[in-house]
Amino acid sequence: RAKADGRGTYRFFETGMDARAQARRLLEMDLRAALGRNEFEVHYQPIRDVASDRVVAFEALSRWNHPQRGLISPVAFIPLAEETGLIVQLGEQVLRNACADAATWPEEIGVAVNLSPVQFKNPNLVASVTEALAASGLAAERLELEITESVLLQNSEATLAILHELRAQGVRISLDDFGTGYSSLSYLRSFPFDKIKIDRSFVSELSTREDSMAIVRAVTGLGRSLGIATTAEGVENDAQLELLRREGCTQAQGYLFSAPRPASEVVMMLAKPRLRASA
Ligand code: C2E
Ligand code: MG
Ligand code: MG
Ligand code: MG
Repeated sequence: RAKADGRGTYRFFETGMDARAQARRLLEMDLRAALGRNEFEVHYQPIRDVASDRVVAFEALSRWNHPQRGLISPVAFIPLAEETGLIVQLGEQVLRNACADAATWPEEIGVAVNLSPVQFKNPNLVASVTEALAASGLAAERLELEITESVLLQNSEATLAILHELRAQGVRISLDDFGTGYSSLSYLRSFPFDKIKIDRSFVSELSTREDSMAIVRAVTGLGRSLGIATTAEGVENDAQLELLRREGCTQAQGYLFSAPRPASEVVMMLAKPRLRASA
C-alpha cells in the first residue's frame, strides 16, 4: 500500500492505480470474449535461406483484429494472455490455424509457431500439437516450435521432457531471441535445438557496432560447430544481409524481405523474387 505525502497526492495515486487495474480488467474481459469471437488472426513472415535466397518457412505471428481498435500487436496482448492463462487457448488456436494454413502451401515450406513458457505448464501441450498436425494433415517435419530461454528457466526437467516428446513426433525446436536471456550456452547443451534465432537487437546494429558484429559472428560460428542452423531476425537492409551471408548465417528474416502479412498473401510472398542491388 502506497504512502501519501499529502491527501491530494494519495488520492491521485490511488485513482491512477484504479484506472490501470480497471483498464487491465477490461482488456482481460475483452481478450476472453475475443477468443470466443475468433478475433485473432495469424500473420506470416517469410524466412529465407541465405545461400539460395529462397523462402523456406514462414513464422506465424498473432494479431488481434479488434472490432473497434483494429489490429493489435502481440506485444500488447501476449503478456496479459500469459498472466491470465488465456495464452493456452490462444496458443492452441494459433497452432491449429498455422498448421491448417501451412498444409495448403508447397511441401518444402515450413511453418514456425511461438510457444509461451505458460503453455509448458499445460499438461495438454503435446496432445494439442499432435491434434493440430493430425487435423491439418501437415507433416510434423514442417512444423517448427520457437521457444525462448525463459522456457528452460522454469522447471527445466519437465520442460525438457516435453521438448523431447515433441521432437520424437518429428517437430523441430528453435531457440528464439538468442542472446537476450540468461545462461544461453548451457541451454545449448541441455537440449539439441534444431535452430538458433539470433535476436533482432544484435542484427539491427550489425553494421554500426563492432560488438554486435562480434556477437553475431560468435553465434553463427557456434551454430556451425554444433551443427545447428542459425536464423537472423529483423534483417532490414542489404548491408546486414551481406554481413550475415559472409558470416555463414543460414537463414534470414526481416522487413528487408517482408513484414508479417495475412495468410492470403503467402502465395504472393512465395512468388515474389527479391530484387537485390548487389548479388
Ligand atoms: P518473435 O517471435 O521474436 O517474432 C519476431 C518479431 O519481430 C515479430 O514481432 C516481427 O513482426 C518482428 N520483426 C520481424 N522482422 C522485423 C524487422 O525487420 N524489424 C523489426 N523492427 N521487427 C521485425 P511481432 O509480430 O510484434 O511479435 C512480437 C513477439 O510476440 C514475438 O517475437 C513473440 O515473442 C510474440 N508472439 C507473437 N505471436 C505469438 C504467438 O502466437 N504466441 C506466443 N506465445 N508469442 C507470440
Ligand atoms: Mg519467434
Ligand atoms: Mg524472436
Ligand atoms: Mg523477438
